[in-house]
Amino acid sequence: MAHILVVEDEEKLARFVELELMHEGYEVSKSGDGRKALELATNNTYDLILLDIMLPGLNGLEVLRRLGNSHPTPVILLTARDAVMDKVSGLDAGAVDYITKPFAIEELLARVRVALKLHPVEGSASSAGATDPSKAQNSPAEDAANGVYRWKELVLDEKKHRVTWKGQEVSLTNREFEMLKVFLTNQDIVLTRDTLLEKVCGYDYVGETNVVDVYVRFLRTKIDEAFDIKMIETVRGVGYVIKSE
Ligand code: CA
Repeated sequence: MAHILVVEDEEKLARFVELELMHEGYEVSKSGDGRKALELATNNTYDLILLDIMLPGLNGLEVLRRLGNSHPTPVILLTARDAVMDKVSGLDAGAVDYITKPFAIEELLARVRVALKLHPVEGSASSAGATDPSKAQNSPAEDAANGVYRWKELVLDEKKHRVTWKGQEVSLTNREFEMLKVFLTNQDIVLTRDTLLEKVCGYDYVGETNVVDVYVRFLRTKIDEAFDIKMIETVRGVGYVIKSE
């Protein structure tokens, strides 16, 4: 089972997250100090690190920077509500995702599942014996490593900046491309307009979340309608989701 390092100095929150993760069957280690966490992450192979930003010892962003881009373990940052710059610098420094405090535990668990699926750590306890090289071609893990994301016959190739449906190219603007990528990397997670806006635009756009509806409409026109499929579903009053099944 995946081994997760929870780095959080608010003890109650850390304990709560630990219990929930253990309940899901994960192995959990905890640290409430940035310097200690960096040491743990350097000397152990974790499958995922949940990293708070405001920490004693060394802050989370600094931990992330010192781990460096070559560190194999995916990191999800825990950030304060309006710490927009933290989110941006965190993603720049190599975090795969972030979650805003306070969060619903279901959302945290869903993001943990996605991060583990998209960023498997080679040589970790959970991956031992799990990979059959003959089947590695186009596995979700290899796809993710290559920046390739799929939904049914849709393929988004990040490196080539190319989207196709059944091999047919779909021409998207940068923003549409980014939004599609957010959907594809968060399949089965209902994304609120705020979340989409933050992930796509990179900053809070308070009061103008209908920008998201505009981009969703563009994507639907270029993909759903063009190929007569139903990809982006509306969750009334909440946001949008792409379902993997
Ligand atoms: Ca903290």
